[in-house]
Amino acid sequence: MRRKLAAGNWKMNGLGDALVELRTLADAPAPNETDILICPPATLLSRAADAVRHSAVALGGQDCHANGSGAHTGEISAEMLRDAGASAVILGHSERREDHDEHDEDVRAKARAAWAAGLTAIVCMGESLAQREADNTLDIIGGQLAGSIPDNATGENLVVAYEPIWAIGTGRVPTIAQIGEVHDFIRARLERRFGPGVGRSVRLLYGGSVKPENASEIFSVPNVDGALVGGASLKSADFRAIIDALS
Ligand code: PGA
Repeated sequence: MRRKLAAGNWKMNGLGDALVELRTLADAPAPNETDILICPPATLLSRAADAVRHSAVALGGQDCHANGSGAHTGEISAEMLRDAGASAVILGHSERREDHDEHDEDVRAKARAAWAAGLTAIVCMGESLAQREADNTLDIIGGQLAGSIPDNATGENLVVAYEPIWAIGTGRVPTIAQIGEVHDFIRARLERRFGPGVGRSVRLLYGGSVKPENASEIFSVPNVDGALVGGASLKSADFRAIIDALS
């Protein structure tokens, strides 16, 4: 039985006053079968760790470097994230693949670094609108899945997030059938590569315009074990409604 996971990606949003939202989230009673994760900007991680101490809210980073340390000005290692209070890291988000020219092999190297530091890697993948319209979605996802995830995945160290690029921040959400098709495909591929035990234990998140209004419907899809939420994770009331829809 996979635990549900509600993960919030704050992206490049949040100054110190945003910690109020985090405290509100941390203070509310936690649902039994749902894990809650917030990935604030790295500048807030240590303060966020104070804000969620002794609560059910865990923290994650939004990216890490593939190396453990060294001459990489401006970069943050997985071990630094861990040291600042993170237990997970989002990797291969489409905004990083696009803005920083990250490719599958980069994501794979970062996932290895995350695992070496003891972090869970939340590996993101998704097709563009053009790829979907050309009926290439499963080919694209299959390639990203094979290329971005290292060997030695387990149900603890890996979470896969399916995020169609055209659904991120747009208010456009795939149909239930479209989400189900991709999640079933990812599940089957994970089982084939890592064996049924591991393949069935990895959690699969849907991401892209998840809101309180559409969360229940999305969570009714088999093989959707939770969500990676951008905009609606910035306000604790909205994120709480999404957590409740999951629980
Ligand atoms: P969104 O972002 O919920 O604002 O669409 C999701 C994401 O990019 O993870």
